[in-house]
Amino acid sequence: MKSEHQTQGPKHRPFPWRCTQCGKEEIYPKPTDYTTVETHDGRSYVLILPDLSVPTCRYCGDQLITTKVDEQITSALRSQIGLLTPCEIQSLRNEHGLSSLQMAEELGVPETLLADWEMGMRIQSRAMDDLLRHFFQSRVAGDRDLDLSLSQGR
Ligand SMILES: [Zn+2]
Repeated sequence: MKSEHQTQGPKHRPFPWRCTQCGKEEIYPKPTDYTTVETHDGRSYVLILPDLSVPTCRYCGDQLITTKVDEQITSALRSQIGLLTPCEIQSLRNEHGLSSLQMAEELGVPETLLADWEMGMRIQSRAMDDLLRHFFQSRVAGDRDLDLSLSQGR
């Protein structure tokens, strides 16, 4: 069983980190009620992430938005908009027995874009999210041939 608090890999250096603002090794993770405004599809969303662990300099107060912090902001944004999560996209694809290449081709999107959605590197637009949902729903409905003739018509 893997602990969420265990970070691995060479890029995860142990704290404290050196602060780029004041040059002191005083950066430690700090639980922060983090508020940010994120823009998606031309709309702004105010996100509040209570108790987000943000590496913060104890000396000058500078906050570091690391990849990990950024991922949590992204996932909060995704759930606020109500989009499919990377896990959901991936598990739906697996349920339907599709390789990412097959699915990308059927959706008409680049395989790299699909991979980015599944890895959480990018957030799909609401239009793309709708497309994904319809895609999976129409496959559940079963009749493949009918489905194809209907959905290819644009
Ligand atoms: Zn500092």
